[in-house]
Amino acid sequence: MLTQNITSNKALAPVKKALLAIVIVAFGVAGLSPARAQSTGAQIPTLGDTSTMGSSDERRLGDRIAREIYRDPDYLDDPVLAEYVQGVWQPLLAAARARGDLSPELAERFAWEVMLGRDRTVNAFALPGGYLGVHLGLIAVVSNRDELASVLGHELSHVTQRHISRLMAKQGQMAPWMIGAMVLGALAAGKSADAGNALIVGGQAVAAQNQLNFSRDMEREADRVGFGIMTEAGFKGQGFVTMFDKLQQASRLTDNGAYPYLRSHPLTTERIADMQARQGLAAPGPVKATLTLEHALVAARARVLSNADVDALRTWQAEAGSAGLSTQAAPRQAGIWYGAALAASQLRDFAQARIDLEHLRGLVTGDASATRLARLLQAEIALRAGDAASAQTALNTILTAAAAPGAVTAQDQASATRRPELLLAAQIALQAGPAGQTDPAGGSATIAAVAVRLQTWVTVHPHDAQAWQLLSSLQGAQHQTLRALRSDAEAQVARLDYAAAVDRFKAAQAFSHQQHSGQGQTNGGASASQAAADHIDESIIDTRQRQVQSLLKEQTLDR
Ligand SMILES: [Zn+2]
Repeated sequence: MLTQNITSNKALAPVKKALLAIVIVAFGVAGLSPARAQSTGAQIPTLGDTSTMGSSDERRLGDRIAREIYRDPDYLDDPVLAEYVQGVWQPLLAAARARGDLSPELAERFAWEVMLGRDRTVNAFALPGGYLGVHLGLIAVVSNRDELASVLGHELSHVTQRHISRLMAKQGQMAPWMIGAMVLGALAAGKSADAGNALIVGGQAVAAQNQLNFSRDMEREADRVGFGIMTEAGFKGQGFVTMFDKLQQASRLTDNGAYPYLRSHPLTTERIADMQARQGLAAPGPVKATLTLEHALVAARARVLSNADVDALRTWQAEAGSAGLSTQAAPRQAGIWYGAALAASQLRDFAQARIDLEHLRGLVTGDASATRLARLLQAEIALRAGDAASAQTALNTILTAAAAPGAVTAQDQASATRRPELLLAAQIALQAGPAGQTDPAGGSATIAAVAVRLQTWVTVHPHDAQAWQLLSSLQGAQHQTLRALRSDAEAQVARLDYAAAVDRFKAAQAFSHQQHSGQGQTNGGASASQAAADHIDESIIDTRQRQVQSLLKEQTLDR
């Protein structure tokens, strides 16, 4: 019945071929042969005739899709951009809960995770299970947090209003792995690709998206609820209007190729009029987006990171040298210098990057958040140049500014534990190595101290794969092999790759066995306290290994 349902749809035939490739890769990694997977798939109970997919099923489907995205080379966990997006996303989530749009049950069950994609196209999309995808192209094109909030609020509403679950339920008797593959196929087709590729995938994208598109009623509801959520969260409602303006202008100028968001969200005059009416009720004001200094830097970062092409990087550098630059508004100028410095450092022209940074510094003076971003870039560039000492100095400047008497906001005080600073500190400590002289106590002390801070961080943020990975390296640098293997395993768990995690846990167990049998009764000269610490690590590893093993079993059965 399942097979019949799928093969009867001739329009999907080309899509299926491409999707099959994705599916086979997925199974290959999970250690299942395609043949075995198919027979397992056929035994899966159908989703039934209910109009929505259950939230547990939807979360599992979302996890399946997210796992593939985490593996995609275009998936990007850039701490600076991620923090900026979180600064919009978290208030939206809180507002959705406060308004009752997001039930406590769904809040608890779904992932509510934003995944960034290194892609120049302007796109954001909601996925099953509370995952959200955001292309760097969107961050590059919005002017401020309000505009970003309008898009994220709209997408969030597709999830809270269960539009996604209704779309998924519409796939009827398709096995979850099939739906997952279809979503991934549509995503792959939505990526910016060279012209040849775009032509080939174009038809498939249409076929797949016809099944995955929201109805006009759903879009209207997402606009209405999204507007309520973003204004409740404290963002200006006019962000919705200026964003629409921006998209409408883009639709006149382009054939939508760079704006997949427009393809899935065709602008109708009705939608725009609705928004303008709502805006009128909320607060009258000029409909002109203001580019903030902070956002100008973030947008420049998104643009440079979305295109690592040498020619594109050179273009960024050239823009900083253009004649009319000094006549532009300060945020525009600052964005261009930020982009030029980052581009120069990616081209390993560190002398030029330092010159660009100087120009940037002059423009951000007096703006605390923009100054911080400029300092973070300075530290990042020094690190890339192999100058750990200068990187540490730049980082210290941020921490000192945050601790200055004038800086009394809670955010300033929390600076020491902000993610971009913490992850940079870890990278600096690793580069300086045990012999590093980056602080008075010396490099080993630095490595140990940063490891302690990261340990605290992952306790609060257990899904932070990058933090676990850096912690693993810091532990490795201190010859704490068991702990390093465990942290590496946790990084795999955070990326939902349970098979890889179990491998690491088993490697840790094998390592302990080897230690015990090699040392016999003498304990190899290690102190009693070290032996006790190892014993605690071993029991944590055994427990986690069992837990993740059972997650892996579920993941494997869940086809
Ligand atoms: Zn929508």
